[in-house]
Amino acid sequence: MEEIGHFINGKRVAGKSGRFGEVFNPATGEVQAKVALATADELREAVEIAEKAQHAWGATNPQRRARVMMKFVGLLNRDMDKLAETLSREHGKTIPDAKGDVIRGLEVAEFCIGAPHLMKGEYTEGAGPGIDMYSMRQPLGVVAGITPFNFPAMIPMWKFCVALAAGNAFILKPSERNPSVPIMLAELMLEAGLPAGVLNVVNGDKESVDAILDDPIIQAIGFVGSTAIAEYVYTRGCANGKRVQCFGGAKNHMIIMPDADLDLAADALIGAGYGAAGERCMAISVAVPVGDETADRLIEKLAPRVEGLKVGPYTAGNDVDFGPVITAQALQRIKGLVASGVEQGAKLVVDGRDFNLQGYENGNFMGGCLFDNVTRDMDIYKEEIFGPVLSVVRAKTYEEAIDLPMSHEYGNGTAIYTRDGDTARDFASRINIGMIGVNVPIPVPLAYHSFGGWKRSAFGDLNQHGTDGFKFYTRTKTVTARWPSGVKEGAEFSIPTMD
Ligand code: NAD
Repeated sequence: MEEIGHFINGKRVAGKSGRFGEVFNPATGEVQAKVALATADELREAVEIAEKAQHAWGATNPQRRARVMMKFVGLLNRDMDKLAETLSREHGKTIPDAKGDVIRGLEVAEFCIGAPHLMKGEYTEGAGPGIDMYSMRQPLGVVAGITPFNFPAMIPMWKFCVALAAGNAFILKPSERNPSVPIMLAELMLEAGLPAGVLNVVNGDKESVDAILDDPIIQAIGFVGSTAIAEYVYTRGCANGKRVQCFGGAKNHMIIMPDADLDLAADALIGAGYGAAGERCMAISVAVPVGDETADRLIEKLAPRVEGLKVGPYTAGNDVDFGPVITAQALQRIKGLVASGVEQGAKLVVDGRDFNLQGYENGNFMGGCLFDNVTRDMDIYKEEIFGPVLSVVRAKTYEEAIDLPMSHEYGNGTAIYTRDGDTARDFASRINIGMIGVNVPIPVPLAYHSFGGWKRSAFGDLNQHGTDGFKFYTRTKTVTARWPSGVKEGAEFSIPTMD
């Protein structure tokens, strides 16, 4: 069986711990590889290598670093099919969706080609007599990223492209569920001209995460994953004096106003609710139609489409809308939540739990589920299900509708479907959520804007990628310089002012 190790100092290396995780094929349930789980010592070795490599990389002029990024983009395009196939095999998502996963990361690499501009500081001539003042942006040194299973290409690239373009060395601890693509990405960075040791991929579980959190050399940690672990990483990382940003779980609501184009809204809900089997932090998992008439018409449109969703392995190509969920445990958890919804009184309009695919009986498949009459107190409303389940919560008025996402503990994304500009503007202005869609169901900001939720969907400040990403992985130094023409005679004992 294939053994996946780590990528350290520019090459693949075997793990030394003797501990392994199982990498499943979610479509068949078979174990297709073993992944090494690093010890704290192995993590430490990688950090020391990264620290040595960072000195020269950090001193490389930003234009040269940008050229590496430019070459990397070309290599991603060259290897797109191979990356997507490997990603689908370990994750289960369809090939077009896997390509989207790579492309949304590639777009951040493209953005990072602008590093020379983004690293520019500020300059004030004549801040005082003969005094000039300038600030510069410098890399932090060795930084780290800890990433989830659901975007094994995009999220690692959101982290390491920005950090590397800014002149840092990087330790990536990807999800142990799908470790192959992150190593392939690191190999492509090497081929693009990144010096060995600047980007290292260390596979592992809690032991390696804790080693990152406690390592005195690592200066900053970017995490993406579930809220419980995000909070843990944030708390422990901050207690150790690091800069930490952690992005967690979500419950994204879409409000459908009575004036909305319901066909458009139904299309949006089908794609954003069930795409990638609902395993997206920006998936829409709650639909809030305003008024019973809107709700009845929407359910009428949604129900046959949810029943008709095509579920299957990525190898079936265009015949599949979404694939299996990541593990058998995830499947059981999702089905358990659906059962709790029924017990707690929601109306299960479409029940996909008994879905079976001939030849794939051990795969983690289930059909789409659609609930009506969901209420705030139900577990299916409160919890992130992370599966192909859409809950409809009926609201009588716009105010009642907007109060739902406003009161929910998560605040990642939300959307409104309406033709009324005033309502859309009010929604965007008042809502306490980080990413808003107006007639757009998955409002993931493009690479040159930045991505981040509010409330318990994110811990720490500054978002991912965009200019925020560069701020997160750099620090500012400000120089005040006085030249002889401005020098006054004598010592000054009071704080210098510009008076
Ligand atoms: P997860 O929290 O289980 O794992 C994320 C990372 O944390 C992995 O690298 C994993 O190895 C590590 N980890 C897991 N348990 C740990 C522990 N006890 N101690 C230390 N480290 C641990 O998340 P997941 O299941 O891989 O991903 C799905 C979650 O990620 C969902 O909640 C989803 O909403 C969230 N997500 C959020 C965003 C966002 O930007 N807000 C984006 C994608 C996914």
